[in-house]
Amino acid sequence: MLASKFAEIFGKDPEIVASAPGRVNLIGEHVDFLDGFVLPFAISDVTTVAIAKNSNSQIRVASLQKNCEITAIEISNIQPMTGEPWTRYPIGVLWALGPKALNTGLDILVDGQVPLGAGLSSSAALECAVATAVNQLFNLKLSLPDLARIAQKGENIYVGMPCGIMDQSVSLMATKGHALLLDTRDLSTEQIPFDISPLGLELLVIDTQVHHALVDGGYAERRASCEKAVADLGIKSLRDITVAQFEARKSELDEKTYARAFHGITEMERVLDAVALLKSGDFVGFGEIVTLAHQSLRDNYTVSCPELDLAADTANKFGALGARMIGGGFGGSAIALIKAKDSELIKSEIRSAFMASKFKAPRFFSALPSQGACVIN
Ligand code: ADP
Ligand code: MG
Repeated sequence: MLASKFAEIFGKDPEIVASAPGRVNLIGEHVDFLDGFVLPFAISDVTTVAIAKNSNSQIRVASLQKNCEITAIEISNIQPMTGEPWTRYPIGVLWALGPKALNTGLDILVDGQVPLGAGLSSSAALECAVATAVNQLFNLKLSLPDLARIAQKGENIYVGMPCGIMDQSVSLMATKGHALLLDTRDLSTEQIPFDISPLGLELLVIDTQVHHALVDGGYAERRASCEKAVADLGIKSLRDITVAQFEARKSELDEKTYARAFHGITEMERVLDAVALLKSGDFVGFGEIVTLAHQSLRDNYTVSCPELDLAADTANKFGALGARMIGGGFGGSAIALIKAKDSELIKSEIRSAFMASKFKAPRFFSALPSQGACVIN
């Protein structure tokens, strides 16, 4: 289908079609910039790209989600933070690859099934699909961690978005039925069993559809608090201090700095506890840790909001094993690990609770751990 659309738009067949998924992060929130651990999995929704060389020294991109309008740019004019915003994601990957990819013109058609802006990382899905396709097209033989770094560099510099490397790593390296434990200090990974479907479980994503204004400044300010804690304590990283050591030095920090850094340190510990529970098949214990993460994000890191609290609390009240807000906070989405049979009940209770509180109607997605990027043909 994408190949025939490509032929319609660019007048020839694509040479490569590749896809890459979006993701959800089970636990490990706001610790990717602290050398911490994160535990995302790839969802089944993917972004697919079709790609072929052209002979006119131009990069031409079009997206089914952007009316299939072609944006063309001369290779010699490619510069960070220029061009129509959405085109920066695919072109940023080519820019980050440099002469390896930019030695010929390219035509790229995008079809994204990952909901945009719902906290499911449609941006990384798009970048990683392009990176996978180009790796194959030019036979670059780049490793998955290298492709993740390239995609991240494109988003950081070419798009101008200072994201971490979690989204790209999991979109490229995920395997079906697993979550990916990623150590953001050295980018080492481990596949952790998370085959929830045969157990009758699923992960519900609740998109509150609200975005409170605090979002930009709030993120930077909290990050600065964690950096202040590192400086005040004279350590290299919050990764290097245990919860007990940190608590013993409480008097050296002001209250706000302490609370925010406390979230970071305990969250790193929670990720490792969560992994141990998953390895022993204890999904109930795992769910409880997910809920503890929400409480810490709400009370210590203070990035939740009434909509996220209501979503997580209502899910738990009606049978979820655990629930928490995800992403930057002050809006966006929450996740809940639920029994698949409770899905309709939980969704309808959340809908009713949101209506009673006069909140905007939420959107729901269900997510199962799926495989990472692949070349389709
Ligand atoms: P998220 O990654 O959580 O979905 P972002 O704001 O990081 O949210 O990325 C969303 C942006 O990525 C969109 O606004 C758009 O610019 C770009 N994008 C993602 N998928 C597509 C697509 N299929 N077609 C065009 N642009 C896309
Ligand atoms: Mg994104």
